[in-house]
Amino acid sequence: MHYINGSWIDGSSDFAVTNPATGEEVGRVADGGAAEATQAVDAADAAFQSWSTTTAYQRSEKLYAAWELMTERHEDLAKLMTTEQGKPIRAARNEVKYAADFLLWYAEEAKRIYGETIPSGRPDQRFLVMRQAIGVVAAITPWNYPVSMLTRKLGPALAAGCTVVLKPAEQTPLCAKAVFEIFDEVGLPPGVINMVNASDPAPVGDAWLNDDRVRKLTFTGSTEVGKLLGGRAATNVKRVSMELGGHAPFIVFDDADPVHAAKGASLVKFLNTGQACISPNRIYVQRSIAEEFVTTLAERVAKMQAGSGFTDGVSIGPLVDEPSVAKVERQVNDAVEKGARLLTGGQRLTSDGLDRGHFYAPTVLADVTPEMTIHSEETFGPVAPVIIFDDEEDILAKANDTAYGLAAYLYTRDISRAWKIAEGLRFGIIGINDINPTSAAAPFGGVKESGMGREGGHVGLDEYLDTKLVGWSV
Ligand code: NAD
Repeated sequence: MHYINGSWIDGSSDFAVTNPATGEEVGRVADGGAAEATQAVDAADAAFQSWSTTTAYQRSEKLYAAWELMTERHEDLAKLMTTEQGKPIRAARNEVKYAADFLLWYAEEAKRIYGETIPSGRPDQRFLVMRQAIGVVAAITPWNYPVSMLTRKLGPALAAGCTVVLKPAEQTPLCAKAVFEIFDEVGLPPGVINMVNASDPAPVGDAWLNDDRVRKLTFTGSTEVGKLLGGRAATNVKRVSMELGGHAPFIVFDDADPVHAAKGASLVKFLNTGQACISPNRIYVQRSIAEEFVTTLAERVAKMQAGSGFTDGVSIGPLVDEPSVAKVERQVNDAVEKGARLLTGGQRLTSDGLDRGHFYAPTVLADVTPEMTIHSEETFGPVAPVIIFDDEEDILAKANDTAYGLAAYLYTRDISRAWKIAEGLRFGIIGINDINPTSAAAPFGGVKESGMGREGGHVGLDEYLDTKLVGWSV
């Protein structure tokens, strides 16, 4: 179903949603196109005037109420996510908590949309700066974090006073519906948020990008699609924020504890079965500790259990679809052909019923070199590529040698080294001996082809606000 102007709307046709662990159909949703997309903008545009002039306290109240409901429904949402997206139930619970955090944070932050006064050089003049909601926002979200990627946009947009039209990923519309049900029950006025589902996203995207009433595009997804949509958004000069792909370096220096670093690498690399934009894609380890690091990493990864996210002990869920498995397989085969050493994994998983889903074994590759595709292409799967390095002098150049710039990690006990390397890394998020440098309270986003703009934290609100200058003769 679509959600337009406060009502649930069926479409003339629908499409299936499947469980990636079993291939079973778990639901059907209305299939929309340009007509529904435009109806949604009509509703959001009509609602903007009154929603943007509510008080910050009224908007905050709705966000608090949504946070409370999401917190109450924590377990149901997590189970739905495991069914529809595949991640292990513990990870799904973590994501729901993270998603709810954005509602709470922006409920609080709504009340802090401050302006400023600026001294003028003229004695008879005053300057006032006010910040106002941008207008109708078009939001397009991915499947890998199917609840939090919505609240990370809806939270600040609603706090700012914007109205929203949203298209969730075609793989995870049921999670999106569950989020919209929460806002519906909270009693947001009709038209403030609207959702259109589509098996073919292009007509919906086109309708929103061609519509002058849409004043902002916020997109999370691949760099390829981001470039396409960003280029089109330039036609009528919409504000744009983009959270795109990544190719994170993970650097382990020789003064780090190799066992601790290997544990960190195994946890962050295989998070969401490697389907995370901040997932390490090049693991650099300094030669003197390489053996211990690689052995520990391979041992830990070999013990990881793949399967249904509802099964106890499973930490590796399915990949989202067959093309994703094929891409991982292609990258691993290419690397092995070019001389990489396969330490564990390296094949599809098909026994014990796993052939019904999209499973690939958690894999560690050593001796990865720049000639291999995996060295430059985002993997988005359960493969840890390890590269040994000798000199500290050129590690920064190596780590920065990518078109992406989202997350980077480093392990060291030397504080000067940590400071200098963190400063030199051209990435938007750095983890120093830390594999989870994310929070609703902190700015998340990338540089270079990983995107522009930030989500989370107080700067996340700026993305939904225009700055207006008032010059005043007194
Ligand atoms: P994707 O780009 O294929 O799809 C993302 C969204 O865009 C989906 O809703 C899809 O339906 C829509 N879309 C695709 N083509 C479109 C078009 N022509 N017009 C309008 N909409 C269109 O990406 P994906 O496979 O869903 O997600 C994986 C990618 O997302 C990875 O590259 C990952 O790194 C990135 N990602 C980034 C972040 C971040 O915060 N930087 C977070 C999560 C995922």
